[in-house]
Amino acid sequence: MGLAEEARRLARLLAGSRYAVAFTGAGVSTESGIPDFRGPQGLWRRVDPEVFSIEYFMEDPLGVWRLFAELFAGFRGARPNPAHHALARMEELGVVKTVITQNIDGLHQAAGSRRVIELHGSLRWARCTRCGHRVPLEEALREVEEGRLPRCPRCGGVLKPDAVFFGEPLPDDALREAYREAGRADLVLVVGSSLTVYPAALIPEYAARRGARLAIINLEPTSLDSLAVFVSRRRAGEILSAAARELEAMMGAR
Ligand code: NAD
Repeated sequence: MGLAEEARRLARLLAGSRYAVAFTGAGVSTESGIPDFRGPQGLWRRVDPEVFSIEYFMEDPLGVWRLFAELFAGFRGARPNPAHHALARMEELGVVKTVITQNIDGLHQAAGSRRVIELHGSLRWARCTRCGHRVPLEEALREVEEGRLPRCPRCGGVLKPDAVFFGEPLPDDALREAYREAGRADLVLVVGSSLTVYPAALIPEYAARRGARLAIINLEPTSLDSLAVFVSRRRAGEILSAAARELEAMMGAR
């Protein structure tokens, strides 16, 4: 199927939905130059995933901070791409109600999405592993640059990037809100997620089991493709921006 036909099909699904929710993963940001983990150019090819587990962090916090700082340098200056902009436009049109994201890069908000649920935290903060106090991430990174382990200004505990590491629970409020939104949805648009990182990946499945239709945009197959009413293997920026234009035309928007 050609791009135009695919985009029209997706736009029709969106236009016909009552409550559409987007669920995004690292693949929505690769076109901004941020590598995903498991895609063809993924980070997993270079870095052992174990490094971003809480156990490993507790064993060697400064080592993990150094690696994190190196990865973070790749995020700095990244700009939203057409996929982020298209999702923000779909929200503006009143069609996409919420974006549930596994990403920590803040690019949905930078593109103008207002209702964003961050399941895995963000790159804005570092958090004390002892008392929970938050410090801007940049401050913690300055310590790392100077070769010191960042510590809490309140209690002296070790600071950790406020992104969810493997082995850590997801933030309660974000998870609760995500399930509430997924429960309301009649259409879930999955974008750039391998759907292999749990428990986040359970959310679209939960929505589908409650009757929501699934539309999946991912370069590679996912475990939910067989449940989906729409699957595209195109780049997210390409198909989403074409679909947003179709949607605008269908809705008579300027
Ligand atoms: P993942 O890396 O497991 O999977 C990403 C998927 O996106 C892959 O299947 C890949 O084929 C697909 N993809 C890559 N580029 C694409 C494109 N342009 N268009 C369509 N599909 C594309 O990602 P995940 O499921 O989100 O899980 C990885 C975990 O790592 C997540 O928890 C996430 O929080 C974290 N992470 C976040 C960032 C970020 O914030 N940008 C970056 C890397 C990893």
